[in-house]
Amino acid sequence: MKQIKDKNFVPFIESQLLQARIKELAQLLNKDYDRKNPLLIGVLNGSFMFIGDLFKSIEIECEVTFIRVASYQSTTSTGEVKQILGLKEDIRNRHVIIVEDIVDTGMTMQEVLGQLASQKPASIKILTLLYKPEALKVPLKVDYIGFEIENKFVIGYGLDYDGFGRNLDAIYVVQE
Ligand code: 5GP
Repeated sequence: MKQIKDKNFVPFIESQLLQARIKELAQLLNKDYDRKNPLLIGVLNGSFMFIGDLFKSIEIECEVTFIRVASYQSTTSTGEVKQILGLKEDIRNRHVIIVEDIVDTGMTMQEVLGQLASQKPASIKILTLLYKPEALKVPLKVDYIGFEIENKFVIGYGLDYDGFGRNLDAIYVVQE
């Protein structure tokens, strides 16, 4: 068990299982993107560990870059606006794969997908390590999924609780 601040976390997906599934995801990309030179776009901070391992297992020609998603309250509308930061590459006519650590409500990915799609890539797909189908609030097609999990808060392997827990080499779930 791991204690972080006021919460306890228990083992959920062990490291060996994570690594085996990541190799399978890489094999799918090797097959689907052969000779397409895809650009993997990792969403920071949470995806850094996952994309590192995934990238090592990809054998075809491919590139990697990272973005951050900043949220702020718009002054002109009531909703929260998400802004993509850090993308220097021209993605027009590129085969883009957005790599996320976890899709929860899907709102972040929906926004990122829309903004990147408007730059006219040749294709654009979403790959996530973890996916909470019960939490999804918007229509979103997730193309590659590592693990479907229940709607509970998880940490480890890049995912944090208030900044901590990212360094754990496996996924832990909050103990309720
Ligand atoms: P969404 O827009 O899909 O609701 O949220 C996606 C983001 O919320 C993720 O990139 C992640 O930062 C955060 N998030 C959602 N669920 C969890 C979770 O169970 N654990 C952690 N650590 N972060 C989560």
